[in-house]
Formats: sequence, C-alpha cells, structure tokens
Amino acid sequence: MTGPVLLTGGRLVDGTGRPPLDEAAVLVEGGLITWTGPRVHAPKADTTIDVAGGTILPGFFDCHTHLTMRPGEGSAIDRMTAPQSLRVLQSVPNLRDTLYAGVTSVRDLSGADLGTKLAVERGLVEGPRVQAAIRILSITGGHGDWRSANGVDLTGGSGGGVVADGPAEFVRATRAVLQEGADCVKIAASGGMSSPRGEPGHGGLTFDEIKAVVSEAERHGNVPVAAHAQAGSGIHDAVVAGVRSIEHGYLVDDRTIEEMLARGTFLVPTLSTLTREPEPDTAPWVLDKRRRWTAAAHERLAAAFAAGVPVALGTDAGLVPHGSNLRELALLVEFGLSPMAAIVAGTANAARLCGVADELGTVEPGKRADLVVADGDPLTGIGLLSDPDHVVLVVKDGRIAKDTRRPTA
Ligand SMILES: [Zn+2]
Repeated sequence: MTGPVLLTGGRLVDGTGRPPLDEAAVLVEGGLITWTGPRVHAPKADTTIDVAGGTILPGFFDCHTHLTMRPGEGSAIDRMTAPQSLRVLQSVPNLRDTLYAGVTSVRDLSGADLGTKLAVERGLVEGPRVQAAIRILSITGGHGDWRSANGVDLTGGSGGGVVADGPAEFVRATRAVLQEGADCVKIAASGGMSSPRGEPGHGGLTFDEIKAVVSEAERHGNVPVAAHAQAGSGIHDAVVAGVRSIEHGYLVDDRTIEEMLARGTFLVPTLSTLTREPEPDTAPWVLDKRRRWTAAAHERLAAAFAAGVPVALGTDAGLVPHGSNLRELALLVEFGLSPMAAIVAGTANAARLCGVADELGTVEPGKRADLVVADGDPLTGIGLLSDPDHVVLVVKDGRIAKDTRRPTA
C-alpha cells in the first residue's frame, strides 16, 4: 500500500471487546490506522478494498512460540543436537506460516534470538514482528537444564537454558540474556511435561531467585518476566514475586487466582499444546505425565478464566505446528471464554502483556496498521480462524502480507 487505502464493507471487531460494527470501514495511511467507522461516513482513499461479508480484526499475537522448533523433528535429544543453522533456517517457513495464519506479532519464549527479530525487521524474511526471550533461566536439574546425569551438556542447544542457582547467579543470568538482546526474561518456575526430568509440579526457581530476576529485569527498563509454571507452588511464587505472565499455569490454585487478579498477572494457557494429539514417537514417560495432568488442567484453567484472570493467547507453537496458531481461539472458548474474550486475549490483552498496547492490539486511529480479514464471522464461529485459509488478508504495518481474496470483477 502506498497512498491511503480503505478497507470497506466488513464487520469490524476491533479487539477492544466493544460490540462489533457492521458495514464498517478502516482507513490505512503511512502504515497507521487513521480512521475507523461506518462505511457511509468513510473518507475517500486512493485504493478501496471491499471486504463485505468478511470480518476486519486486529493482527493477532501469539505470546508463546518456539520459532526454531517444529513438531516431528525427532526426540528432544535430536532437537538439542541439531546444527544451529538448521534451526535458524527452519524458522523461516515457521515465520511465514505464522504470519499467514493472521499472527502479526509473536513473543518467542526460547529458541529464536536477536538475529531472527532483526531479519524480520529488515525484510530479509517474511514474518510477524518478534519479541524474544532467547533462553530460559533454569535451576540445576530444572526445566531448561539439558545436562545429562553422565555429564553430557546439551544446554547450549536450541531451547536449552541458562543454568544458575541462588539469587546472585540469577542476577548474572538475567544480565546475560539481556546482553544477548532479550525483550523479556523467561524463567522455569516449575518442572514441565517435557522436562528432561521432574514433574510439572516440581519446583523451579525459589521465590528469592524469581525475585532476583524480576528486580534485575526491572532495573533494565522494566523488562517483563515470563514464568514457565505448570503446577505446584511455583505458580504462586512467580506471581507474588512479580512476574508479568504465567505460561501454562495448568494447575493454578484458588489463592493464586486471587493474587493474579489483584496484580493483573497474565495467564498464557497454551491450550494448543496441552490438548494436542501425541506424536507417535512421544516418549512413554511424557505420555504418562500428560494423561495425568490434562484433565485436572482443564478444570483449573476454566476456574481462572471464570474468575476473570487476564488471558493472553499463546500456543507453544513449535511443539504444535506453526501456522494454525489461531486454533487456540477455539480452545479458549472450549475452556470457557466467550468468542469476543478469546479475540481480546489474542489482540488487546496480548499487546498489553508485550508492552506494546499503545501501538498494537486494536483497530483504532493512531495504531499501527496490523489487520486481518477473515472470510466469515468468528464471533458466531470462532473455529473459522483455526484454518489459515479463512484468513484471506493480512496487513502488517500497512503493507499487504497475504491476500487470497477471490477477484471480484
Ligand atoms: Zn514453551
């Protein structure tokens, strides 16, 4: 798009949670949204794109991706020992598929580094804008420590972590990832279903260690901390220590829900991964863990949603395929959010979590022109967005990134 472009005729779901506006129009100029309102009052534009019958939405966020990973790439050991160049190169189609699914911003919670973010910014590869945690901070033996019992150290592999123990070492580890260019700091506040050892409810960083990370990240421009925390006291410790988001949060308890409400802590429940069909080569110990945890997680996450904990959309894509990220919307609805609340989780809430709500996350004048057009109404059928083929137009920073609308003339 060069001159002003008007998207006109569709239903506008602007990401704020306000009721939709039918027969709407959105004006895009110089990469920004400059006007929204009823089509009949729309200003003139050089170019008009008729999106009648479709729905105009903000560009979505996926707040939990692993762009360097793909499902089906073998065992965790295969993944950790793969050449780094393979991991970087396979993130190229992953980025494109994510963008074409309607996701114009991602927060990558380990794997992608500063180079991936810069490559997108410089237009070397197509993709959503990237915020990256780069590496996860883990205690010895925790989720993120990929050293085997016999001393083989795979921690340097993609998805590997920074291993530290004690508050002082975690201050240093925080500085290390910030020095590498991290936009947020990810910590392992509990074990995980795919941890090399340990259960989701096992402890990760102690309260004092989490506090040390949060304080150090705050000192460097209020960098947010994302806590991998699936169960146990790790979720509560992370919330009280002041992290901005709980990733997974599968067995969040009632007292922690209260704390999250009081502090505005975000929940990124990664339902796409929780509910995924296991791959044929999944290790039996992972299958066993998952069976035991999934049913309980459904009940606890539904309780958090019902209580009104702010939810931001994240999938753990990389463990599930990239490019069907917005399947998460249907799962959020299945777990109790309304379709509108699910859309807000993927747009305005996600932008707040990522600290970019002043420029992204809603379709409002002054925001960057990140827009998605679906060829139907996700408010009446949220599953529509699960299929990227129903995402017919993707605009990022005012530039058309994908356009599969049928020619009308
Ligand atoms: Zn993850």
